[in-house]
Amino acid sequence: MSVMNQIDHYLSTDGIRITVADITDAAREAQEIHHLSSLSAVILGKVLNASAILAMDFKNHEGVSLKWVTNSPLGTIHADAYEGRYVRGFIEHPDDGSVFYTPDKEAEWVSRRGKLFVTRYSLLKMPYVSAVDLPDGDTAACVSDYINSSDQTLSHVEIEALLDEKGKIIRVAGFIAQLMPEGDKKLFGELFARDRKWNLFDESGKEDALSTLLHKENYVLLGTAPVSFRCTCGEDRIKHSLQGLPLAEQQGLLDDDHIEIACHYCGKKYEISRETLIKWFNEKGGNVQ
Ligand SMILES: [Zn+2]
Repeated sequence: MSVMNQIDHYLSTDGIRITVADITDAAREAQEIHHLSSLSAVILGKVLNASAILAMDFKNHEGVSLKWVTNSPLGTIHADAYEGRYVRGFIEHPDDGSVFYTPDKEAEWVSRRGKLFVTRYSLLKMPYVSAVDLPDGDTAACVSDYINSSDQTLSHVEIEALLDEKGKIIRVAGFIAQLMPEGDKKLFGELFARDRKWNLFDESGKEDALSTLLHKENYVLLGTAPVSFRCTCGEDRIKHSLQGLPLAEQQGLLDDDHIEIACHYCGKKYEISRETLIKWFNEKGGNVQ
């Protein structure tokens, strides 16, 4: 069983690196904040999980932002993982709940030959964006495809979600396994064959339990951190982006006595008075009244 709300990074003496993330509470919170039905909740939960497991270089505080253009009615999905312990995200157009989640529906809605843009940054790396065409398949298959083509390393990704009968998220967890340059390629091929599925949840006495593999003595836990949903929004960021608007648009915002801005990621509402706006704009030499 994966540990609830935790990210663990392992390395084996066979040269296999595994990052496991259980983002259950973050996925539940996302479902709550964005009022998601089962299908959108699972898809967003899995994409959040994908961002968490892709931030493998935890020692250098790697952050990952996904812009997942589905080409389905969901539109674009955004997900960020940062500081090795926080995730946040939203779906542009969540489904209306008329269909209950199924794996086939997930594959149909998460990728209609869309595109995935991945931004990665860390203490050592300036942000850089890579883009790949999404293949057919579920969320994990798309992430697997991305990492295999962008990193040129042999990788394997699995992400699972559990729902209750009302369509509420019970668990979301996933992992990425990567073969290191001097790693045992044959063993990796056996452990992570395409048709083999590891058990992330129901692991009682099962041979295919991921935790059994990770508890073998040749697996070393390199790092661990709790994970939760957290947004980076705040008045300072809003101020900064509004100050960047062209003057004509700034003037347009001053028609009413206040404006209301809601954060897409966390739903938080900010009310900003006309007075404050004028102060902000004039700080940047806007000379508005
Ligand atoms: Zn926010």
